[in-house]
Amino acid sequence: MKEGLQIEELEQEIDKLRQKNADLKKQAFDYEKHISNLEKKLYQYKGVIYSSSALITFLKGPDYIIEFANRPILKVWGKGDRIEGKALFDVLPELREQGIETYLNQVFYKGIPYHAQGLPIEHEVDGKLIRSYFDFSYTPQYDAEKNIIGIGVIAQDVTNRELLNDQVRKREKEFSELIDFMPHKISLANPEGEPVFFNKSWQDYTGKPMEELIQEKWWSAIHPDQLDKAQNEVNEALSRVKDLDMELLIKDREGEYKWHLYRTIPVLDDKGSLSTWISSSTEIQKLKEVEQGKESFLKLVSHELKTPVTSIKGYVQLLLKMIRDKNGETDIPVQPYLGRIEDQIERLIVLISEMLDLSRIETNEMKMQREEFQLNEQVENIVQEVSDTHSDIEIVLNHEASCLVEADRNRVGQVLINFLTNAYKYSPEEKNVEVKIHKYNDDFAAVTVSDKGIGIRERDRRNIFKRFYRVESKNENTYSGFGIGLYLSKEIIERHNGKIILESEYGKGSEFTFTLPLKS
Ligand code: ADP
Repeated sequence: MKEGLQIEELEQEIDKLRQKNADLKKQAFDYEKHISNLEKKLYQYKGVIYSSSALITFLKGPDYIIEFANRPILKVWGKGDRIEGKALFDVLPELREQGIETYLNQVFYKGIPYHAQGLPIEHEVDGKLIRSYFDFSYTPQYDAEKNIIGIGVIAQDVTNRELLNDQVRKREKEFSELIDFMPHKISLANPEGEPVFFNKSWQDYTGKPMEELIQEKWWSAIHPDQLDKAQNEVNEALSRVKDLDMELLIKDREGEYKWHLYRTIPVLDDKGSLSTWISSSTEIQKLKEVEQGKESFLKLVSHELKTPVTSIKGYVQLLLKMIRDKNGETDIPVQPYLGRIEDQIERLIVLISEMLDLSRIETNEMKMQREEFQLNEQVENIVQEVSDTHSDIEIVLNHEASCLVEADRNRVGQVLINFLTNAYKYSPEEKNVEVKIHKYNDDFAAVTVSDKGIGIRERDRRNIFKRFYRVESKNENTYSGFGIGLYLSKEIIERHNGKIILESEYGKGSEFTFTLPLKS
């Protein structure tokens, strides 16, 4: 009975052992599987590390033994690929003098990671020191007991980027020195028009440092008489994102105002959005003084000439009348010559009155004698007058609208004469001119003069309305004139709250339009 019991117990024991054996086998199998998985993963990780474009190495222990180093870092080190297992500074002694050991020690002994950007490091390759730039991080690596066992190094070669940055910095320095060196006053403003930079010339002229100039309102240096006009023009340029060009009196460090030519242009970025305003102010005081001298001289001369020329005209007309009364019966045939003298005197009188108008504008004495009249009638009269005096001109007149205006009849006539004589003068071949009276924007009357002449280049279009401006060309002397007709025309039309519009195609012809508010 007892023996039977023992056998039974032994059998149970054997069963248990069998079971344990099976469990252990299963466990061993699982471990093997786990290890093979780990190996696979390790292989994959190594694959990632070795194929990465980043520079990766693991430095083990206090001697910084190179445990592994991927291909890119081997390439940069330039010491071949049999360096695993060697101490870093034995392989790359040149790194020691460049302070790398200090960074590594900080990581290894204190556990503080070290990161750097764009750090220059020189490696000796084939006996030559080659400088490259790196972004990198040194991070401490721990074992299971949290002891530091080495350093993981991940770096990126950023040499191209740094060289480009160097170039950009160099250019920036050159440009800022160039801008400071220039005698022109240069400033930059943000898209809202708030200044952010003034060059040295601005600071010297105003006697104020850049910070003060930035904080001050830009108009504080502008002459009070010009303030309203300047502010309006600047606001318009800002809202329409367009160039601006004006002459301004700007206060210097002694409080004296000097004439400047102020120019500003919007700068757009790659996407076409406004990024900066660049402005330049060039002192033109001397030029203005010369111009003013010229004007006073012209004023004096034209005043002095006016009386004798008018009386010559009177005498010529008297002589002509006397001859006509005698039915042209004189011993010498003087009548045609007297006719020509009269034409030339007429030209002289126009010139003198333009000169006088010029000084009237300067002294703000040009007054408009407004009256209500039919614009069509006045245009017709002028067209007739110009056709009579220029036999080879062919003017086609189109009344597209009937327009009543309140304006200075003679001054409006003067503008049209100027447009027509220019159309005639600057059309050396085909003197066919079209004049059109029409409505503009519902509230305005408009007169357009179109010619098929030499046309005006884009760059000259804005300038031809300035005093004494004449388009430079090899034919410059072919066309006589002083360059004040359009300036006067613009002043006259603007005093009537109208405007002048110019369209032109260089080499094909021009179209000048003036507008006047309609009298309802
Ligand atoms: P001026 O004709 O006496 O030179 P204006 O002020 O009338 O002076 O004109 C200024 C300049 O504008 C002229 O010198 C000429 O270059 C240009 N211009 C004016 N009208 C025309 C036109 N119809 N066609 C071509 N150029 C013109």
